[in-house]
Amino acid sequence: MIEINQVPKLYDTEVIIKTLTTQEYRNNFVDLDITMAACKECPNYSKNWACPEFNENVLENWDRYENIELILTKINFTREALEDSYDDEDLLIIIDNSLFRERNKLISTLEEKEKDYEGKYLSAGYCGYCEKCARIDNLPCKYPDKCHNSIESIGGLVSDTLSEVFGEELKWIDKNGKLPENLSLLMAVLY
Ligand code: SF4
Repeated sequence: MIEINQVPKLYDTEVIIKTLTTQEYRNNFVDLDITMAACKECPNYSKNWACPEFNENVLENWDRYENIELILTKINFTREALEDSYDDEDLLIIIDNSLFRERNKLISTLEEKEKDYEGKYLSAGYCGYCEKCARIDNLPCKYPDKCHNSIESIGGLVSDTLSEVFGEELKWIDKNGKLPENLSLLMAVLY
């Protein structure tokens, strides 16, 4: 089994930032019906306060701000990592300690940007701040300032954004346990 401390040696990162007006982004890359259909398939649906189903109209977020700064982090795997095949357990360790590790590292930078821009940052995936989200027990969020919607959860089409704004393709692990050339992490700040 792969050791956790081996994972950071399997990749390096590359960050690309693009800024669009929120109106342009909304017109081209927001479709809540599509993202909700995908969210309903996820085990976190209605079990995490950062995820749907929401009581409020989340589309209003797109009208509240003028611009969106899109921050793409590419997790580029090394040649050695690409040559190996991994079993399911190893792949979980790799994803946790590459994709989620980089996401968690970026959060403090985005919190600062959110403050500087007087905006709202959009994370990737569910909120993992608490070990168990309070929503599972029907309790209010314990740390509302740490709970952030993802781009998808408010209707953003991540795959289309990657291809049309960044010229990148969304890649994932194949059935034979081979890592893709890179994984993509898309986060943003509305301001
Ligand atoms: S801060 Fe805790 S309670 Fe709130 S959404 Fe995140 S995990 Fe859930």
